[in-house]
Amino acid sequence: MRFLRNLVQRFTQIFQRQQVDEGLLEELEETLILADVGMATTEKIMSDIRDGVRRGRLTTVEEVRAALRDAIAALLQGETALRLSDVPPTVWLFVGVNGTGKTTTIAKFARWLQKRGKKPLLVAADTFRAAAIDQLKVWGERLQAPVIAHQMGADPAAVAFDGVQAAKARGYDVVLIDTAGRMHTKFNLLEEMRKIHRVVTKALEREPDEVLLVLDGTAGQNAVAQAERFAAAVPITGIVITKLDGTAKGGAVIAIKDRLGIPIKAIGVGETADDLLLFDPVAFAAALMGENDTLS
Ligand code: GDP
Repeated sequence: MRFLRNLVQRFTQIFQRQQVDEGLLEELEETLILADVGMATTEKIMSDIRDGVRRGRLTTVEEVRAALRDAIAALLQGETALRLSDVPPTVWLFVGVNGTGKTTTIAKFARWLQKRGKKPLLVAADTFRAAAIDQLKVWGERLQAPVIAHQMGADPAAVAFDGVQAAKARGYDVVLIDTAGRMHTKFNLLEEMRKIHRVVTKALEREPDEVLLVLDGTAGQNAVAQAERFAAAVPITGIVITKLDGTAKGGAVIAIKDRLGIPIKAIGVGETADDLLLFDPVAFAAALMGENDTLS
């Protein structure tokens, strides 16, 4: 298992109980809340389970486990496939607060695309931090993928525009655009995102194929709040949740999908370029219940 090891262990422990009783239901409820699934979503899941128990539909611990798995899978259902355009280049715009793992996620997708014979182009449109530009360049060198970058302080939308034009001119398949994510009062981050989105749409003559919001899976309900803010500014098409390798929580995956209805498209499970899993709701729910280790 490459993610949420503690949570999976907790569920495995709970389901070793012999009887379906209030104690079992309370432990499940508490585990979901402690895992950051959030009160509202937890109640939604648990009311279905409680209803099943009351009506005699769920009588064994195994039936409760399967019902919980199916309820989680149902909540996570959505358009999880990543969109690649028939008209190249495909453009994926990455947004999110600094430190959530945007740059690393871009490197992971670059690797994933290369493995499928695609040529990715990385674009450093976070021009507010020299370190962010350098970091993307380092990944570009490591992966042998080209990087479009301007100097620090340049207009991020202009860099994004250049990236799309360069991909068109040089025949790259997928443009991965990194953006700034500092939450600062003097800097209107969300306005900047809108501008980049507008300019990319103009250069591409259609909207970006994906606007991916990167969220830190350890941030819990804070990640839900970030998602709400970004979704109000730009049309987010999918979510990538990072750092699910090192957390006992990660229930925010379920809360975010439930609250915003935006599909989760991939999860990050480590710091290397290979630590990315495409998201499959059924496999994720099954893995959470300790059923399989096949999510890849
Ligand atoms: P950005 O500021 O959003 O571009 O974030 P970075 O890509 O620089 O990542 C911030 C930190 O999180 C770095 O130390 C990354 O190595 C780490 N990180 C990113 N994704 C993951 C992940 O899936 N798991 C773990 N454990 N660390 C991650």
